[in-house]
Amino acid sequence: MSSDRHSTDPLKFETKLLHFGGEIDRTTGASSVPIYQASTFHHEDVNHPPVHDYSRSGNPTRQALEDYIALLEGGVRGFAYSSGMAAISSSFMLLSAGDHMIVTEDVYGGTYRLLTTILNRMGIESTFVDMTDLEQVKAAIRPNTKAVYMETPSNPTLKITDISGVTNWAKEHGLLTLLDNTFMTPYYQRPIELGVDIVIHSATKFLGGHSDVLAGLAVARTEELAAELKKLQNGLGTVLGVQDSWLLMRGMKTLGARMAHSEQSAAKLAAWLQGRSDIERVYYPGLLHHPGREIHEKQSTGYGAVVSFDVGSGERAKQVLNRVRLPLVAVSLGAVESILSYPAMMSHAAMGAEVRQERGITDGLLRFSVGLEDVDDLIMDLGEALNGA
Ligand SMILES: *Cc1c(COP(=O)(O)O)cnc(C)c1O
Repeated sequence: MSSDRHSTDPLKFETKLLHFGGEIDRTTGASSVPIYQASTFHHEDVNHPPVHDYSRSGNPTRQALEDYIALLEGGVRGFAYSSGMAAISSSFMLLSAGDHMIVTEDVYGGTYRLLTTILNRMGIESTFVDMTDLEQVKAAIRPNTKAVYMETPSNPTLKITDISGVTNWAKEHGLLTLLDNTFMTPYYQRPIELGVDIVIHSATKFLGGHSDVLAGLAVARTEELAAELKKLQNGLGTVLGVQDSWLLMRGMKTLGARMAHSEQSAAKLAAWLQGRSDIERVYYPGLLHHPGREIHEKQSTGYGAVVSFDVGSGERAKQVLNRVRLPLVAVSLGAVESILSYPAMMSHAAMGAEVRQERGITDGLLRFSVGLEDVDDLIMDLGEALNGA
């Protein structure tokens, strides 16, 4: 019933989702973690302070969530933040002015904006490389390089980075490795087992799973890094509130069932799209022609629920968005309901047209996050939208 089960735990992943140590309240036997809606904690004896003394530094509800994600990712300690970007920006604070970072070129749009318009002002430099090519990663190293930041499969073109290829090389050079695992979740991919130092999530997506919570998570591979992250989380105050911590745990319990269902549907949708002559390209790591498929299969146990496809032009993409009836047309992904988004005008708008084109985020590209609807209904709906556009 506690986090000391981590290293020796023989339970399978699906079981851990339900039996993670915080599923029962120890004092009352209640069937879920209580929401400790408190900012501070009474010192019954000033000589023996309570476990948690102030909720920015620690709260039992948030702690249960942090232990939960650490268990799922196989790290030593987890951290919960007010958003995915709070998790990412807090982790980047491990770097100092004058440091340099190598970053996957088709990184999440918000991460790109953070690096190129905020952290650059603080003297933290970054070089963006095509991480499908390990040689480009190696060639980007400088005397002041401190870290490598990965995202695989990447967003929205689902490019694959060889995780252990990067971590083995990074270790030789004493570089910190970070990986945004939002698309795969620990259900399909556990980067710490492949040598990654810090795994990051926008828990707003698949982990929360219901489009109703904004949250971020990070997990550290070593106690030393965990202590650093703890200091940053507390010092920056980027913590997740208790209500959202509870909601996130509630969502995470069904992660396995949701991912499995959505993945099956995503594979069917991707194959259907590929069979259509009016679709220029389909991106899904489970498709035979996907260039990163082999590497992806080495490091993950599934392909996920996100399918991107190019309908040919920006004009047609907009028509499809306006014609679909089932998916939510929105930014975001990873929910029970399908979400169709338009990277060029939504998630990657911050990137600038030229950089977008370079990175394959064309004006006709749509990203479909497959939810739990009957896939035949989704296909029928998308088919009608495409036929009329
Ligand atoms: C959404 C997202 C983020 C940012 O997370 P927020 O919770 O929106 O702050 C980071 N990385 C990826 C891959 C995402 O999809």
